[in-house]
Amino acid sequence: MIIHLSKGVGAEEASKLAEKAKAFHIHKGEQQILITSSSVKEVPDFLKGKTDESWVFDNDMQLASKAYIKGTREVTIGNVTIGGDTKNTLLIGGPCSVESESQIRSAAEILKNMGLTTLRGGCYKPRTSPYSFQGLGSEGLQLLVKMREEYGLSVITEVRDATHVDEVIEFSDVVQIGAKAMYDQGILRACAKIKKPVLLKRGFGTTLQEFVQAAEFILSGGNENVILCERGIRTFETKTRFTLDLCGVAYLQEYTNLPVILDPSHALGYAYGVTSLAKACTAMGVDGLIIETHENPKVAKSDASQQLTYDEFAQLYAETSKVAAAVGYKIV
Ligand code: PEP
Ligand code: MN
Repeated sequence: MIIHLSKGVGAEEASKLAEKAKAFHIHKGEQQILITSSSVKEVPDFLKGKTDESWVFDNDMQLASKAYIKGTREVTIGNVTIGGDTKNTLLIGGPCSVESESQIRSAAEILKNMGLTTLRGGCYKPRTSPYSFQGLGSEGLQLLVKMREEYGLSVITEVRDATHVDEVIEFSDVVQIGAKAMYDQGILRACAKIKKPVLLKRGFGTTLQEFVQAAEFILSGGNENVILCERGIRTFETKTRFTLDLCGVAYLQEYTNLPVILDPSHALGYAYGVTSLAKACTAMGVDGLIIETHENPKVAKSDASQQLTYDEFAQLYAETSKVAAAVGYKIV
């Protein structure tokens, strides 16, 4: 249950009431908010004279629910806002991994020249094999910081585990929680304490309910800037790397108030269909796309098969822009 306390109740009193109600306590401006488990169906007696408005839910999709906030929440990344009434589809581009200064610089230059704003690049890579390239770690992060300073881009990079979550939070503009890391409580709780946007990717065996519950960990800690990312789930199909769950996207758009970004690169796993998929996603009026692109995909140290060349990426931008316009959106 979500309870908005009466206007006169201050933060200190709200915190004591939260303790008594075994509830989370967050505030939005002056508004003090308590969140209990969804099994609570009535405002407790001791809160009766102190409650403005309350919402009852049938499961623990609460703060993320459209039943609580009708539209889509706005999230601002650098000087671009998505969600709300913006009708912006943020096109994030860059390599799977930061590999060297010249490689990440080439991606930054491409984005800058195209008028795009947000550069991706993994530094702590959650690889399936210990023998594969694991990412440049801190060195990669500092290269992203350099690109932000030189090109004025926002940077997004992923957290692999809780040991370096504080470092990623400090240096990245958007914290990406990867598909394999999305259940990590250390990461979720650390991201709950900050205000920076968090891109939460859906695990490939994660139900929509579990996905949204992971987002609730971040929201209930007071970070409102959560973006969901559908990146493909595992099905019986083996010809493609994963299956992009557009039905799931429709569900998230209908029932949650969080912006949704689509990752066709990881879903398909091959460059050939990424642009088509990106167009299909754009047609759904999504809040963003995250696309892997590399100066020379053939020699990429991770996810070589799915990264677009810069020419292909430019083509994707041109084609998705037309689709976006047709549905009243704009690729930014
Ligand atoms: C990535 O973005 O490079 C990545 C590893 O994604 P995911 O966590 O979705 O597999
Ligand atoms: Mn990748």
